[in-house]
Amino acid sequence: MSAKPPLLEVKDLAVSYGSLRAVKGISLEVHEGEIVTLMGANGAGKSSILSALSGLTPFQGTVRFDGQDLRRVPADRIVALGMAHVPEGRGIFGDLTVRENLRLATWIRHDREGIRADTERVLDRFPRLRDRLEQPGGTLSGGEQQMLAVARALMSRAKLLLLDEPSMGLSPVLVREIFGILQEINRQGVTLLLVEQNANMALRIASRGYVLETGQVAFSGASGDLRSDPRVRKAYLGG
Ligand code: ATP
Repeated sequence: MSAKPPLLEVKDLAVSYGSLRAVKGISLEVHEGEIVTLMGANGAGKSSILSALSGLTPFQGTVRFDGQDLRRVPADRIVALGMAHVPEGRGIFGDLTVRENLRLATWIRHDREGIRADTERVLDRFPRLRDRLEQPGGTLSGGEQQMLAVARALMSRAKLLLLDEPSMGLSPVLVREIFGILQEINRQGVTLLLVEQNANMALRIASRGYVLETGQVAFSGASGDLRSDPRVRKAYLGG
């Protein structure tokens, strides 16, 4: 493990909704340049963790990102610090065009040249979106909507992307395409924390993983070890 402090360091993170303890004190770390996956069944608390990290849900415990304590830091400030969340269900505005959806990600900025350059950079990575710039987001295919969601997050020049089930609802071919894009983004320097039920794909691109059960980390390890772990094989890899 590198001597550098982790880009993201989470200690004893807990999230409650009224009396329901959805996340019961989990700890994890993500180092710069890594792809780390967080796996777990429905309701294990994965989305709640991402939502807490990105400032959308109150939490207990400690979250440090790029050397900063994120307690009570508002969501827009967290984006500005370099952490961007691609939510489950993608969060695309269906009536707005692809261009407008991308533009929304930069509403807080006023540097028109910078925005133009970032838009070009992102569209170079997603040529399919360039071809559909004036098309309403709601008319894109599922895979294209997922690309738009990732592209929008990248507009904020993220250092760390939090991805909530990018494979959801996509055909195997599209899942491979999206995961290929994620690997490419990672090679270009963006760190990824990937929440997935598709453990097979997630462990293929991640270097490490955490397995979450009912709001707690049940176990964690290097992807290769997790792929051969009987508990993972039984619960997530179909035997
Ligand atoms: P999935 O894979 O099904 O999306 P998950 O692992 O992401 O599940 P969460 O969405 O974090 O799990 O949910 C954890 C628990 O918290 C669940 O029991 C869920 O019903 C509950 N929960 C999530 N959001 C809320 C909320 N806003 N209010 C009340 N309960 C919630």
